[in-house]
Amino acid sequence: MSTFHNLKVVDKKTLTPESVSVVLDVPESLRKAYNFKPGQFVIVQKDINGQNLKRYYSIYNRPEENQLKLGIKFKGKDGFADYVMHDLQLGDIWQVSEPMNDVPFDLSERPQKILVITIGSGITPFYSYIQYMLHKQPHNKLVLIYGNESPDKTMFNKELQNLEKGHPDQLKIYNVYSKDLSGNYYGRINIEVLQDILQKEGTDFDAVYMIGPDDLKKTAAKVLTTAGIKQDKLHYRVYS
Ligand SMILES: Cc1cc2nc3c(=O)[nH]c(=O)nc-3n(C[C@H](O)[C@H](O)[C@H](O)COP(=O)(O)OP(=O)(O)OC[C@H]3O[C@@H](n4cnc5c(N)ncnc54)[C@H](O)[C@@H]3O)c2cc1C
Repeated sequence: MSTFHNLKVVDKKTLTPESVSVVLDVPESLRKAYNFKPGQFVIVQKDINGQNLKRYYSIYNRPEENQLKLGIKFKGKDGFADYVMHDLQLGDIWQVSEPMNDVPFDLSERPQKILVITIGSGITPFYSYIQYMLHKQPHNKLVLIYGNESPDKTMFNKELQNLEKGHPDQLKIYNVYSKDLSGNYYGRINIEVLQDILQKEGTDFDAVYMIGPDDLKKTAAKVLTTAGIKQDKLHYRVYS
C-alpha cells in the first residue's frame, strides 16, 4: 500500500510544446518520506472534472533538492497531462505517494558502463540518474540513445547537451530524430542504428536500461543479445 501526502505545486514551466515540468514542494516534515533515489517514481492523484485520475510519474531531478520535479508529456485529450498543460495553477495541491522503486540503477561506487535506450518522456528517470552519476559516480560511463521527433520536441535537450559537453568522458548522447535531420541518426531507433552505435561504443556494458514501446524492446533485445550482451543485463520498462 502506498502512503500519500498533500504536496503543493510551486512551479510549472514548458519543456517542449507537448511537455511541462512541474515542481512539488516537500515541506520539512516530509523530507524523510520523500528522500528518493534516481529511478524512483510517484503516483499522483487528483480529482479532475469529477473523475479521480491516478497517474505514475518518474522523478527527474537529483535527490537532495527538497523538491520533486516531474516531466509530464501530453499524450491525448482529457488525460492528466491535459489538465497539467492547460489548467494547472501554482498553489494547486496534489495527492502524491511516497517514492517507489522502478529503474534499478546500481548506485554503488563500482565503475560501470551503462547503455540507456529511450524515447520521449521515458527520459525522466534517466535524467535524474545522469545528474546523480555525474556528481557521485565519477568512474561510470553512460551512453544514451534518445529518440524524438526533433530537437525542439526533446525533453531536457539543452540540459543534456550541456551535461555531455561538461562531461565528455562520462556521457555520450546519440539523438535519433524521426522528423529532423540534425540528429546523429534520422528515423527510428532500429536495428541499423543500434548496430552502428554498438560498433562505435563496444558491447561491454554492465547494464542496459530501456523505456519505450514493446517493438523497441524487441528490436533492441534482439540486437543486443546477438551482439553478445547477456539477457540478465537488460532492464526494461513500459511507460504508458
Ligand atoms: C513507472 C511509470 C513512470 C512514468 N513516468 C512518466 C513520466 O515521467 N512522464 C510522463 O509523461 N509519463 C510517465 N508515465 C506515463 C503516465 O503515468 C501516464 O500514463 C501517461 O502520461 C498518460 O497519462 P494522461 O493522463 O496524460 O493520458 P491518458 O488519460 O492515459 O490518455 C489520454 C488520451 O491519450 C491517449 N494516449 C495515452 N497514452 C498514449 C500514447 N502513449 N500514445 C498515444 N495516445 C495515448 C489515450 O488513449 C487517451 O485518448 C509513467 C508511467 C509509469 C508506469
